[in-house]
Amino acid sequence: MDKAKRNAVIAGNWKMNMTPAETEAFMKELAPKVADVKSAKVVLCVPFVDIAAAVAATKGTNIGIGAENVHMEEKGAYTGEISGKMLTACGVQYVIVGHSERRQYFGETDGTVNARAKAALANGLTAIICVGETLTEREQGVTFETVSRQTKIALLGVEKEQMKNVIIAYEPVWAIGTGRTATAEQAEEVCAAIRGVIASVYDTETAEATTIQYGGSMNAKNAAELLAQKDIDGGLIGGASLKPDDFTVIVKAAD
Ligand code: PEP
Repeated sequence: MDKAKRNAVIAGNWKMNMTPAETEAFMKELAPKVADVKSAKVVLCVPFVDIAAAVAATKGTNIGIGAENVHMEEKGAYTGEISGKMLTACGVQYVIVGHSERRQYFGETDGTVNARAKAALANGLTAIICVGETLTEREQGVTFETVSRQTKIALLGVEKEQMKNVIIAYEPVWAIGTGRTATAEQAEEVCAAIRGVIASVYDTETAEATTIQYGGSMNAKNAAELLAQKDIDGGLIGGASLKPDDFTVIVKAAD
């Protein structure tokens, strides 16, 4: 499939930043800047406490709102957790699953990432599933094995028809928040490999239709080169998604 036929999705990951008041101000500033964007989808994944403000402030705009995590169960005794049903009820459309910070600091494993991804999909959310190697894994020459394992396990039990609601974000851990970006060639070869994994799990048609993002210090300066690669369909952006002007430049580079 021609890259132009896949959804180009630029998603911000705010992490633990922004209050509801700051969220409202940010969305009001961003909305007119991206209003003329045609082909790219604009998404901001925000902390749970900012969802209501984000959804209200983006009503009637082309900005979609996502969460940063989802629990695998529908309801129950899981203090501090939020279910997919709760998220959709609040107007959330996307959710990040398995971000490397969740894997590193909160004990996420390939298995929990799979369970959360399935819960997201079962609730009609689009799951942005993060995969990526650490610096040690890259230096040990196991980047492809790592990313392939993470992708395969994340997709266990995910039906082919559900893949239209799956985005894979390739995020080399060594590039996140470090200012050190993968080169366009490095990013492209892993994103192409991920597409190959999806083809082996499902089929070529499914792989060709799946949006694959790059994430890791993507910014207003390097976005155009990364997004021009044939297997990079969008970006998952941390730091630069907190600045409306920088985020707008990235969105326009994808459009
Ligand atoms: C991220 O948190 O997913 C990310 C890519 O962060 P940054 O853009 O700041 O590297």
